[in-house]
Amino acid sequence: MYKPFVILRIILIFAGMIGTVYKSTGSWYLVKTEEGKEYKCRIKGKFRLKGIKSTNPIAVGDKVNFTLETNNDVETGIIDEIFDRKNYIIRKSVNLSKQTHIIAANIDQVFLLITIDNPPTFPSFIDRFLVTAEAYSIPCVLAFNKIDSYTEIERRAEVMYLKDIYENIGYECIEISAKEQKNVDAIKERMKGTVSMFAGHSGVGKSTLVNAIAPELNLKTKEISEQHKQGQHTTTFAEMFDLQFGAKIIDTPGIKGFGIVDMEKEEVDDYFPEFLALKNECKFNNCIHIEEPKCAIKDAVEEGEIAWSRYKSYLQIIEGDENNYRVDEFKDQ
Ligand code: GDP
Ligand code: ZN
Repeated sequence: MYKPFVILRIILIFAGMIGTVYKSTGSWYLVKTEEGKEYKCRIKGKFRLKGIKSTNPIAVGDKVNFTLETNNDVETGIIDEIFDRKNYIIRKSVNLSKQTHIIAANIDQVFLLITIDNPPTFPSFIDRFLVTAEAYSIPCVLAFNKIDSYTEIERRAEVMYLKDIYENIGYECIEISAKEQKNVDAIKERMKGTVSMFAGHSGVGKSTLVNAIAPELNLKTKEISEQHKQGQHTTTFAEMFDLQFGAKIIDTPGIKGFGIVDMEKEEVDDYFPEFLALKNECKFNNCIHIEEPKCAIKDAVEEGEIAWSRYKSYLQIIEGDENNYRVDEFKDQ
């Protein structure tokens, strides 16, 4: 009776097990196998990744190989291998200048929530976000939230105007009302079988949407904002959740966007899909589309094929003008 169990255990130990990191607290990782079994795991010794100077070698979303060991009758795991990531998002560490902190890995898509007002989301913010998502190779869906409140024709026109710009360059746009549960099913459908994240300014309705999608989850957003009010410096960790309809989300408390990725001036146009499609037609192959003659991008802007707001965002990124988020940028001029 006992023997087969021992043999099975030995096989398991040698074969190792594969799982996904759902939570990380710095020293421990919660790893879930495909069968849905959770193990508390740690890393053995020093574990360095090639090419990334990071304070945490393993992040939420990572696929890992681990072996089991028994400590005081509790089964825990030791992570001995991390599988290649398809993408990851990082944040610069506060103290250590050159080190970065990996927030999450292997993200299938991010939903950027956009509102026309309360709060306003300006194109410069959307574009900066999209550039970062492109640089990270994370597909982005634009979700225009609070459509129930855009009763005035001007507000509707603004949604249509923005949707038109972003759909034309290949981004999927969905109009939703998280509060009135309009089109929330379209978001759920898009999420099935994937790992998703939600992003957007504070107040755009991220927690309302998550609650509408997965009431069972009840994300602790209130708790976190209470902690912030008390002025405590709390370290918040990303966490992955399985949703009942067969989707996963990664919740990253306190992270509204992706921050800014360091990039060279010359590579920014690679992350504007409509620029990338045209840049070979510029006279100079190192054209950065500002002063150069015979520039296909500038011509396209003049002819209205590239939205002026997109070009303006591009210039802001190139020139490093991060604070120039003015209200009048909202409309094409
Ligand atoms: P978060 O900061 O992005 O998590 O935003 P919240 O989910 O906390 O929402 C901020 C405010 O917007 C709350 O008062 C919500 O009730 C409201 N809100 C969220 N979604 C909608 C919506 O679809 N329509 C309207 N009218 N209000 C919404
Ligand atoms: Zn050019």
